[in-house]
Amino acid sequence: MSTEHPPTVTLTTSDHGDVTLPEPSWCLGHAIHDPETQYANIIHSSTDTVLTFRRALLMTACLVQSPNAAPGTEGLGGPTPGVSVYPLGETLGPDQLYDLAGRLDAYADQLRDLADQLTRILGGEDR
Ligand SMILES: [Zn+2]
Repeated sequence: MSTEHPPTVTLTTSDHGDVTLPEPSWCLGHAIHDPETQYANIIHSSTDTVLTFRRALLMTACLVQSPNAAPGTEGLGGPTPGVSVYPLGETLGPDQLYDLAGRLDAYADQLRDLADQLTRILGGEDR
């Protein structure tokens, strides 16, 4: 099995037939491409970065790019690569991702504070 990343990918579309596009190095590929996809809706996606706890999926994020989409509304993806975040349902740029990461850091601190408080309550130190 080759590990080389193809420089281009050819995909069947419902409105433009077969089209060949540059394939970003980070794209997972298009093994499950639907030939009924419209040209403007072709999307490159990377591997998901996943946060789970026990059986719950808390958050996923991955690089995305819709190279043929019209320059879109902010937060809805488009020809500029971004990071799609679920369950937020938006595609973020670098500054927004750093903001999200900072908020997750702060939330983790709040969870540790709650764990500390619960430990004190269970130990009879705090009622
Ligand atoms: Zn791709």
